[in-house]
Amino acid sequence: MGIIYSIECRHCGTITRHYHAADMASVRSCADTNRSHVETECAIRCPACGHRLNGSQEEFAAQVNMEAAWQ
Ligand SMILES: [Zn+2]
Repeated sequence: MGIIYSIECRHCGTITRHYHAADMASVRSCADTNRSHVETECAIRCPACGHRLNGSQEEFAAQVNMEAAWQ
């Protein structure tokens, strides 16, 4: 399971989807943190322009326009 994010690139407006798989440990931690928490260690990039979408938690959250649980 995990979370699917629909992210609108603020650089070029392209909407892409990011599948964030969650193991048991991160599911537990997710319950205690912001719903749009995402890992920033690995760059998520816009497929159209290459702009990094998760330079920071705040930057990522600002570009998310939809998120859904994925079983
Ligand atoms: Zn882009």
